[in-house]
Amino acid sequence: MNVVILGANGFIGSHLSERILAETDWTVSALDLHAHHLEHCLTDPRFVFRKGDLLAESAWIEEQIRAADVVLPLVGIAQPAYYVKNPLYVFELDFEQNLKIVRMCVTHSKRVLFPSTSEVYGLCPDKELSEDESLLVLGPVSKMRWIYSCSKQMMDRVLAAYGQERGLRFTCFRPFNWTGPRLDEPADAERGTARVITQFLFNLVHGRPLHLVGGGRQRRSFTSIHDGIDALLAIVRNERNNLDGEILNIGNPANQASVKELAHLVRDAAAAYPKYAPLAAAAVIADIPEDDYYGKGYADVQHRVPSIAKAERLLSWRPKRTLEDIVRDTVHYYLGDGGAWA
Ligand code: UDP
Repeated sequence: MNVVILGANGFIGSHLSERILAETDWTVSALDLHAHHLEHCLTDPRFVFRKGDLLAESAWIEEQIRAADVVLPLVGIAQPAYYVKNPLYVFELDFEQNLKIVRMCVTHSKRVLFPSTSEVYGLCPDKELSEDESLLVLGPVSKMRWIYSCSKQMMDRVLAAYGQERGLRFTCFRPFNWTGPRLDEPADAERGTARVITQFLFNLVHGRPLHLVGGGRQRRSFTSIHDGIDALLAIVRNERNNLDGEILNIGNPANQASVKELAHLVRDAAAAYPKYAPLAAAAVIADIPEDDYYGKGYADVQHRVPSIAKAERLLSWRPKRTLEDIVRDTVHYYLGDGGAWA
């Protein structure tokens, strides 16, 4: 099997690339602006890497897609701070640039696996969010936060339409707060634009407060990147040939926590490292209003729990790692010996 991964150096792309090379005999054609998370992959003859972006590398990308069995367009922005600050860029990259790739897959009749998002459910009040039944509920246009959700939802619909009218073979997967090593870069945390767990860790290490946006009562279902990649590999394999046209939530409903609970878990995990124990003991966990942290265009989601019945049924997959495993794994990557921020 020949797999094309666009955005291979990213959080999902780098873990997927590594696991493909370690566990299969497939070849990977990979594109990214950077390669610092791919050091184990670059030396493998089954891994072909091209440095560049989606805009400039169209010809190369089309050549790879022509020779591909499966295409994963993973380039995109997925940090809420950017939805508010750079909404046009989010639309142009996440939707417009990726649409170009989707159309290449249509032209060359290639199977595409597209990252949708748990954000598409928006403010849906369902206790468990279901791929084929839950309503997708967004706030007003003045709340820029929803441009990401809306762009992703539109792509889900475009893929489904290409499936119906042009026979495109596609599967969408919706990550629910996938978390683990390499989730965010230090520069993101420095700017205050990282995802919650890495932002907490960075702030703790730099003696800054851990901010609970809007009081920290909002809850998420955290999913280990390793469980996510297990699911993704099963989707690529498609052993039962039952995934065309399907949308799958990939999350862990058992790993629910409020942002406030997460702050305490992160502080406790950091305290286990002698070098960081004093910083953990001194760490301040403080409420901050939404507008002060993200600006006026922000709106939060209070509750987000996936139904994973469909993924369990179609993939014979089930997430295994607990929230404690996830926090330990992530904190170790950043703070452990030789860690990214140690
Ligand atoms: N959040 C927070 N403090 C931070 C960063 C984020 O309280 O320093 C909150 C944010 O408002 C959201 C939750 O943590 O409710 C998860 O944010 P994240 O950016 O990780 O992803 P989301 O699940 O919102 O896409």
